[in-house]
Amino acid sequence: MFASIAEMTLTLDATTLVIVATGVTTLLGLFLLFVSKRDSVRALAWWGAAYVIGGFSVAMWGVNAASESMLAGISNALLFVACGMIWNAARLFHGRDIQWTALFAGAAIWIVASKLGIVTEASSERIMLSALIVAVYTFLTARELWRERRKILMRRWIAIFVPILHGAIFFIPIPLAAWMPAEQGLVMLASGWMAIFAAEALLYCIAMAFIVLVLAQDRVVHVHKTAAETDLLTGVFNRRAFLEGAHKLMTAQVKRREPVGVLLFDLDRFKSVNDRFGHAVGDAVLRLFAQTASAAIRTTDIFARFGGEEFAIILPGGIDEAMVVAERVRFAFEVRGVEVSGIEMNATVSVGATSAVVPKNFEPRMIDNLLARADAALYRAKEGGRNRIEFSDPLPELASLPVIASPSLVPVLQDAGQEVVGQTV
Ligand code: GH3
Ligand code: MG
Ligand code: MG
Repeated sequence: MFASIAEMTLTLDATTLVIVATGVTTLLGLFLLFVSKRDSVRALAWWGAAYVIGGFSVAMWGVNAASESMLAGISNALLFVACGMIWNAARLFHGRDIQWTALFAGAAIWIVASKLGIVTEASSERIMLSALIVAVYTFLTARELWRERRKILMRRWIAIFVPILHGAIFFIPIPLAAWMPAEQGLVMLASGWMAIFAAEALLYCIAMAFIVLVLAQDRVVHVHKTAAETDLLTGVFNRRAFLEGAHKLMTAQVKRREPVGVLLFDLDRFKSVNDRFGHAVGDAVLRLFAQTASAAIRTTDIFARFGGEEFAIILPGGIDEAMVVAERVRFAFEVRGVEVSGIEMNATVSVGATSAVVPKNFEPRMIDNLLARADAALYRAKEGGRNRIEFSDPLPELASLPVIASPSLVPVLQDAGQEVVGQTV
């Protein structure tokens, strides 16, 4: 069986394979380098450089194989450096550091083994050691990609399955080389199987380039999305992210037939903080409130800065749950706001609360009604002396706010089932 496979694969001309492998990996490497520069993803630069080095080492190997020069060992060592770089590129993707020693360990082991005469030309140890080094780096790469815990565009198992399969294939020659009768076995490994491995390695490089591009693309999308959803000063969600999260929460609550609660916060006499201590201290108070509220809420609650010194929370549950969270935040801020940046501040916050059962025909703009009701309650909290919570009665069923329309449009909108307030001007 081995003989027939060996004959069959002999048709894969080694020189052609080397030229194709060199060309493809170098081109892919240059492409990855280009994308890394465009998207500023450092991991891609490492990956691309690894491919260029890998392509170069294959070319060297091809030239050496023809001339049987002494440089053969160096081209192998370069290839192992390329494998180590790919592993470290995968580490960089997850914000981990470069493992310099381990990166060069494969190449170092190889060079030492060559110098000591352990891996001589066309020995089974040579095949076993090189296959082992490649397989180990590949499994390490798969392990790094496995750490990816975020939702990614591509199914995660593909990013892990491809390198594991490649690593497993590279393990095959290890038992084979040990197992086969010395002379004959090595000839077969060197001719037939090696061609298969070379072709497989080439396909692996192409597949991994696509996988890593998707991962990088996903990272860029994630970074942009996070930036668009975050309030720069406090690091919490902004209004836009709040509305998006509120929509999801309300949709989930419709299914559970449970209400949602909304809280609006407005820091008390904040203008005077700025006036007395300056904008920077005002900013510190805003950050302190954001930290305090973030620490006081549950993971199901969504907290955001609406702008200026106004913040909001939407949470699953009725008015009782909303009041508990409101009091927890109000009290925690009263305690922590006594002193800010070494200045006696006595910062406090007023809160308006409300809640409603979300109807089946729920529409995103219905959130405006909840916010308006919470705002009315907040106004009363300010009127009542600040540093307190007021609430608007919970709604048994949430509806849209009445639309203000010109008189001619009123009957049209009413026919469509919309509550309308006619415009007088
Ligand atoms: P009240 O208790 O009635 O809410 O009084 P207030 O002074 O907090 O209310 P007002 O709305 O008059 O003041 C809000 C102030 O918030 C005015 C503005 O200068 C300040 N402000 C808005 N955004 C920022 C910001 O990003 N940083 C700082 N430091 N101040 C801000
Ligand atoms: Mg205000
Ligand atoms: Mg205020």
